[in-house]
Amino acid sequence: MNFLQQIRADFPILGRKVEGRPLVYFDNAATSQRPACVLDLQQKLCKEHNANIHRAVHTLSYEATDYYEAGRRTAQRFINAESSDEIVLTGGATMSINLVAECMARGGFIGSGDGILLSEAEHHSNIVPWQMACQRTGAHLEVVPVRAGGSDANDGGVDMEAYRAALRRGVKMVAVTHVSNILGAVNPVKEMVAEAHALGIPVLIDGAQGIVHRKVDVQSLDCDFYAFSGHKIYAPTGIGVLYGKREWLEKLPPFMGGGDMVATVSFEKTEYADIPLKFEAGTANFVAAACLAPALEYAAKIASSPDAAEHEKKQIEAMKQTLASIDGLWVAAADAEDRIPLWSFTIDGVHPLDAAMLIDKMGVALRSGHMCAEPIVRRIGGGSMLRASLMPYNTLEEIEVFGKALERTVKLLRR
Ligand code: PMP
Repeated sequence: MNFLQQIRADFPILGRKVEGRPLVYFDNAATSQRPACVLDLQQKLCKEHNANIHRAVHTLSYEATDYYEAGRRTAQRFINAESSDEIVLTGGATMSINLVAECMARGGFIGSGDGILLSEAEHHSNIVPWQMACQRTGAHLEVVPVRAGGSDANDGGVDMEAYRAALRRGVKMVAVTHVSNILGAVNPVKEMVAEAHALGIPVLIDGAQGIVHRKVDVQSLDCDFYAFSGHKIYAPTGIGVLYGKREWLEKLPPFMGGGDMVATVSFEKTEYADIPLKFEAGTANFVAAACLAPALEYAAKIASSPDAAEHEKKQIEAMKQTLASIDGLWVAAADAEDRIPLWSFTIDGVHPLDAAMLIDKMGVALRSGHMCAEPIVRRIGGGSMLRASLMPYNTLEEIEVFGKALERTVKLLRR
């Protein structure tokens, strides 16, 4: 078996059919599929080790705790955090970002008149929590434009001149995406962190898409926070990671109160647990957390293969040609120099929702709509676009099937 056949054999779902045709799953940016090693562990934990973690002294609880903490340590190694204390396990990227926004506001690190700097291409998960922090504190959002749709260039890049200028307008926090889930272009996050740090401004990176397709080293990036979800990188839903620098996690107040996040509790006073448990109130999703271990090890194994890099290049080239062959199709950030295999596009005379529904009848799963990034999709795509997003398990043959299905869809729908 070659590289690709081996990978595909690990994903039971890739063998299924939709509408009588082999499934072509191109909605990976919404959630990826899970390999057998993850599915097997999920089942084993429920069958043999189900217990609440960190609490009891019985065997099952010890075992469950060990699996949970192994998930945390794997996440630490995967992003090269200095210590596993800096890895907070959350419900997903959304919860990770809410945690930081809420705790920064409540801890007084963002106050009245302060700016919170975002890019124009953020996901709702990296907009709304900051708006809520603004409402609480009297801070305001500063938004940096990206080059796509109507601007001179269409490479999806953040306007760095505007970024530098905005940093100097009383900004107290930067929250930017590593890779936008609409544009697919990789942002120069290391440079953005350095520019912000030169002015003493902390930076959160939304890594929900970036973690899947780029090697992330948080010590080298020097970011203060890095947030991502397990389910976009082979793990189950309901688990996320928040990396936070020790100094920040120690000085932020807790997020939620409850069991597991405390040292001692009395009606007069509660002392909180040390990091990271200070941020992990209540019964954790221990099965999903434990599955971070096989999921991230699987991702690391693929990433270390030269075949994977070669395959991604081929996917990108094939998709570029396929999309270019459709008359009236416009691709966001088409000229990005560094992109992940993700493309959002519009087609003249074809409504994205109609197209997504029709192409599904041909076995192809695409995403449509505003894709939880309404501000940018409204500006560049009239409020609704189509998106195709690939993982290493997607083949060049699938790209061909997608191309033919898209051509047929356009013929049938174009008015
Ligand atoms: N940020 C980006 C860039 C995303 O693509 C997503 C998921 N679409 C999120 C944040 C939120 O992730 P989740 O829903 O898993 O919390």
